[in-house]
Amino acid sequence: MTCIKEAAACARHIKRMMWTYRPELLARPVPRYTSYPTAAEFTPSVGTPELEAALDAIELDSDVSLYVHIPYCQEICWYCACNTGKANKAHRLHAYLEALEQEIYRIAERVKDKARIRRIAFGGGSPNAIAAGDFVRLLQTLIVAFNAVDPVISLELDPRGFDDRWATVMAVLDIERVSLGVQTFAPHVQAAIGRIQPYEDISRTVDYLRAAGVRSVNFDLMYGLPHQSQADLDDAIDKSIALGADRIALFGYAHVPSIVPRQRRIDAADLPDQPTRFDMAAQGYDRFTAAGYYAVGFDHFAKPDDALAIAARNGTLRRNFQGFTEDQADILIGLGATAISSFPGALIQNEKNAGVYRTRLSEGQLPAALGILRSDADRAHGRVIETLLCQGQADLAPVGGGAAYRADLLSFIAAGLAELEGDALRLTSAALPYARTIAALFDPYRSLAPTGARGRFSNAV
Ligand code: SF4
Repeated sequence: MTCIKEAAACARHIKRMMWTYRPELLARPVPRYTSYPTAAEFTPSVGTPELEAALDAIELDSDVSLYVHIPYCQEICWYCACNTGKANKAHRLHAYLEALEQEIYRIAERVKDKARIRRIAFGGGSPNAIAAGDFVRLLQTLIVAFNAVDPVISLELDPRGFDDRWATVMAVLDIERVSLGVQTFAPHVQAAIGRIQPYEDISRTVDYLRAAGVRSVNFDLMYGLPHQSQADLDDAIDKSIALGADRIALFGYAHVPSIVPRQRRIDAADLPDQPTRFDMAAQGYDRFTAAGYYAVGFDHFAKPDDALAIAARNGTLRRNFQGFTEDQADILIGLGATAISSFPGALIQNEKNAGVYRTRLSEGQLPAALGILRSDADRAHGRVIETLLCQGQADLAPVGGGAAYRADLLSFIAAGLAELEGDALRLTSAALPYARTIAALFDPYRSLAPTGARGRFSNAV
């Protein structure tokens, strides 16, 4: 008799047969395409004047989303590539929040009478690195300054700093969505990435969130971590399902210590090899879909009744700086150091350094520092890349048609990963791990980029 575990292993094997490992097609580092053009193309020639012009050009009754960046964490994880620092100095946090408040009012002055704020998302860093009371004041400031009526509020949370005060905040402020940094449940892997986080901390946080009425809880998980085995990943998947995560984002760890110095504490020799990473990505796909989750894009999963799964099913899934999203707003205003604003005609990033960010605001300026103006060609290529990643298909007519890209696509078509009929490109079900690589074929900046610029990206799996 075949036991359940054997049957599950067999099902996994069948799925992995669908995901054939082709290292030659995955060798090229590619962006994650949370924007197009990517941040690698930003230059200092676009900054505050362009931001002001983009804000002034927002039309009456436009749907706008806000993203607020808190660049601090209680503890810094060794693998983390985010722009974040240790929240160990109260005066520094307060100075940052004061500057953030100034930025909020300056931006709101320009847009509050014409923008309808549909969503407010907090990320970082860890928004719960600040005190719960400070977070309440920050959200109130945003709501009052932008005249935001009933926005969907979401935030990223670090379970390590989550306590009953924060649980009260969740309940009182009617926070709808939370993303928890989980990564792995395996203690030996947690030790190897500098993120000690007992299972009990995570399960207690989930209990708090459910009791507070949070309707959608995402778990961020990772594969490809030091000393992480496939059994460790199975354990993370089992526990995530048992804890009832509504959404899962399963990311591959990108080891780029030349760009992220804190990753030097991780020994490359302890990392799973590339074929194992591929198997881990397939394992995640297999296990979550077998458990009833809907595969969203190339690395997200959601319960079938979650808004993200619904968007994926009905063809309205989008991609923005927070990853895959059901948010349909074409304008996202980023607030805080490092935050990026996205407008149809421009992408503009704030100062990354929190000290410089504060200084710019104290001098009466908006803190924009880098960006790019989006040309019509950028928008056309961006649409192809976004629809390929979100819907698995794209109309190539706006970027010169299928014939223009046939040579680049040939190896993917020959491998059964893509089909091209006229100008219509479709990715097959076996193409998920290759989706970013195929999307990168439609990114002219990648073929023009110097080798150094390519080094900031990672392998697609
Ligand atoms: S808690 Fe999150 S943002 Fe902070 S260092 Fe760890 S991974 Fe990075």
